[in-house]
Amino acid sequence: MEVDDPAETVPAPVGDHQTLLTEPTPTPTPAPSPARAPAPDNQQTQPIEPVPAPVDNQYHQAHPTEPVLVPVYDLTQPTESVSAPNDYHQTCPAEPVPVDTRTTEPGPPTNPDVPPPPKKRRRRRKQFPEMIPSAVVNGLRLIRPHPLPAENSPDVRGDDPSLSRTHRRRRKITDLAKEVDVEALIAISVGFPVDSLTEEEIEANVVSKIGGAEQSNYIVVRNHILARWRSNVAVWLTRDHALESIRAEHRSLVNSAYTFLLHHGYINFGLAPAIREAKLSSLLDGLPKANVIIVGAGLAGLVAARQLVFLGFKVVVLEGRTRPGGRVRTKRMMAGDSGDVVAAADLGGSVLTGINGNPLGVLARQLGFPLHKVRDVCPLYLPNGRTVNSDSDSRIEVSFNKLLDRVCKLRQTMMEEVKSVDVSLGTALEAFRRVYGVAEDSEERMLLDWHLANLEYANATLMSNLSMAFWDQDDPYEMGGDHCFIPGGNERFIRALAEDLPIFYDRTVESIRYGVDGVLVYAGGQEYRGDMVLCTVPLGVLKKEKIEFVPELPQRKKDAIGRLGFGLLNKVAILFPYDFWGGEIDTFGHLTDDSSMRGEFFLFYSYSSVSGGPLLVALVAGEAAIKFEQMSPVDAVGRVLTILKGIFSPKGIAVPDPLQAVCTRWGQDHFTYGSYSYVAIGASGDDYDILAESVGNGKVFFAGEATNKQYPATMHGAFLSGMREAANMLRVAERRIVVPPERLHSVFEHYNDVDSLFETPDLKFGSFSVLYDPRTSDLETNALLQVEFKGDKSDSGRLRLYGLISRKQVIELSEQNGDIKRMQMLNRDFRVKLVGRNNLGSVEESLITCIRSGRSRLTGESHFDSSRK
Ligand SMILES: Cc1cc2nc3c(=O)[nH]c(=O)nc-3n(C[C@H](O)[C@H](O)[C@H](O)COP(=O)(O)OP(=O)(O)OC[C@H]3O[C@@H](n4cnc5c(N)ncnc54)[C@H](O)[C@@H]3O)c2cc1C
Repeated sequence: MEVDDPAETVPAPVGDHQTLLTEPTPTPTPAPSPARAPAPDNQQTQPIEPVPAPVDNQYHQAHPTEPVLVPVYDLTQPTESVSAPNDYHQTCPAEPVPVDTRTTEPGPPTNPDVPPPPKKRRRRRKQFPEMIPSAVVNGLRLIRPHPLPAENSPDVRGDDPSLSRTHRRRRKITDLAKEVDVEALIAISVGFPVDSLTEEEIEANVVSKIGGAEQSNYIVVRNHILARWRSNVAVWLTRDHALESIRAEHRSLVNSAYTFLLHHGYINFGLAPAIREAKLSSLLDGLPKANVIIVGAGLAGLVAARQLVFLGFKVVVLEGRTRPGGRVRTKRMMAGDSGDVVAAADLGGSVLTGINGNPLGVLARQLGFPLHKVRDVCPLYLPNGRTVNSDSDSRIEVSFNKLLDRVCKLRQTMMEEVKSVDVSLGTALEAFRRVYGVAEDSEERMLLDWHLANLEYANATLMSNLSMAFWDQDDPYEMGGDHCFIPGGNERFIRALAEDLPIFYDRTVESIRYGVDGVLVYAGGQEYRGDMVLCTVPLGVLKKEKIEFVPELPQRKKDAIGRLGFGLLNKVAILFPYDFWGGEIDTFGHLTDDSSMRGEFFLFYSYSSVSGGPLLVALVAGEAAIKFEQMSPVDAVGRVLTILKGIFSPKGIAVPDPLQAVCTRWGQDHFTYGSYSYVAIGASGDDYDILAESVGNGKVFFAGEATNKQYPATMHGAFLSGMREAANMLRVAERRIVVPPERLHSVFEHYNDVDSLFETPDLKFGSFSVLYDPRTSDLETNALLQVEFKGDKSDSGRLRLYGLISRKQVIELSEQNGDIKRMQMLNRDFRVKLVGRNNLGSVEESLITCIRSGRSRLTGESHFDSSRK
């Protein structure tokens, strides 16, 4: 039995495939290969240190070379890596957003023998159009018509200096306004609101005042920087590049937006060579860094680890499995005399659900992975193999959507009148179905059940568990654009992300203790110490209380863990000797007359065009997914084959014997206990936010798909949550100088007030005092300016205001005669707005931290507890 796979092996042949079956190929279980030799038994404490990247040799080694001599039903999930086949890339459309020219809508059938046109379908989430007024502009989804004042743009955006004078003159304001619009759309696709700041931005003090002109200008600047990097994600966008087309007087906005986007992983992230080489830590040298332990090497953990290393933290990742990726798992299936039929099957996360703004799309571009658009065409087949009549198909789809609309209206009324009442989406839909007499004959009922199964797949649970009020709370944020596959499977991302990271495999974390001194994490009899811990384990693991938190998690968090749902979706992946279903479609559906089993193999994904071989993946959702976990894998594969024969035999197409098959058991997997999260009755989107809250005063952080209110249950949601927490940890680390607890008090007291730093300024002239960035003497770098106004009006008799200017400007200012001229220069020429201590933004705060840090080094203060080094 493998660590990460509770699936049974096939003990006996099934049906007419007896001759094909043997015992499954034994799967090598990789020996744990930590970076360092494990601590001796008597040494229980294992402090974290920079360690060489632990290459899990088994994981990174090539696929076992022993040929599979006979066709096998391999019902295990071996832990060897998947090397993506190279030869099928040519067949896939080029990045970034593929347009699959092969997909055409067939015309109406001309005779009864010709199957009716297949319908367009996709994993469905969005169903309430009136709730989400949307328009599609240039292929990007505009959530609301954005009122961003175009007239703002010329104020902020200067002309590109690279343009000739004549050209520059020719550029009209309207061109700029158009650019601003396009940049706004790009920002929206990444998840920024149209005309307001995100909570993250507010928390990072990106502007001195919420609302008003400064904020509007900031948004234009932020969108511009974001769009500029997104236009070429292979390069590292420097601050100077960002400044190029923005007017000089908005330098502080550029600084603020650039720092925000950089620290929060919106720009300069990923795996392009230029990005990998850049070490942000060197740019930030002098900032306090912390030792971070990350629990879990799934997408969230890997992304956070990379970003934290990049930000200059010391990181170690503890992973319970013997491989990275968690719920992203690509199984290399192999058969044939010399292993010549191969295919990469995604047993967990597979479809990039919306490519616009998707960070995984950025990674794909950087790594040169092509994308394959999942074609929307999806024919549905009745149990007798007949293709569903297109009229009934359309009619029921329309009725189904109307039912959902009615539920939407009902819930709006309920929310207004009885706020706390919630029922299941299933109950509400069934009530309306009866009232309106929808799908009363058996074929229509099967069709409706198919749509319900599709919803149960999207939410990984039964309709009867879903909150009517909030099941689709994430719809407004949905990534726009095509749904795509990555040829060769998503493990290609995982391998690239995990490379060079200090990951310890086979380390199941049992407890996390936290207090003022930091954190202690226990895994496999060893103790790891750090300043902070990031827990990325799935919600299923938290629900089962597999990790003990000491002290206990706050009741509020425990309640949210209890309320949110964690559901089930399973898959059967089958490798055939050849593609008998036809390469023109990526999906087809199957109807059943047993309502309770509507989710059993209701949808087939064809991976022929992307996996490298003739591979079909059958989905099991809803109630069927739960029963499936108890079903023998042999029976399961037998049932899939019966369905396939039912569909294809009447068409005169013989279904060949499979070469290999894999069944998942995500519910029995001890590192997840399910597939992904959903909003259960009584829960709401707020519970995702509560799950994301850190505890222990900035000691214990949480990431993972179930901590992402906007993008739960997805790979990109996990990715973005990792980035979010890296930024949160940076913010905490910046605010808290990480010093031995016994020295914390005095150090904080000493440096708490920025004015104490100005007691010994680097330069003073008149009422102006200046502190330089200790890391560099570059004339373009920022300096913190303090201007002291003396008078009787303020309480203390003195008013001190602050601003950010470059060293060069400091010199110019100091050369002026008298404070009045200096103030004029500051306002008129430099356009610097002085603010009070509390309104300093993130750029100023990080500069202050650097200055403090530099000073504390001079006075012998340490940033790290030496005993932990
Ligand atoms: C069958 C299935 C189909 C899916 N389809 C899609 C899809 O098509 N598109 C899409 O976008 N998303 C899909 N998803 C969801 C997507 O895969 C997940 O949202 C995402 O991978 C979650 O990443 P994560 O980092 O949050 O969690 P995980 O990937 O689960 O990572 C958590 C890590 O923590 C480790 N861990 C757990 N407990 C411990 C412990 N005690 N000690 C140490 N380590 C521990 C786990 O082993 C794991 O590696 C699917 C998921 C499943 C299961």
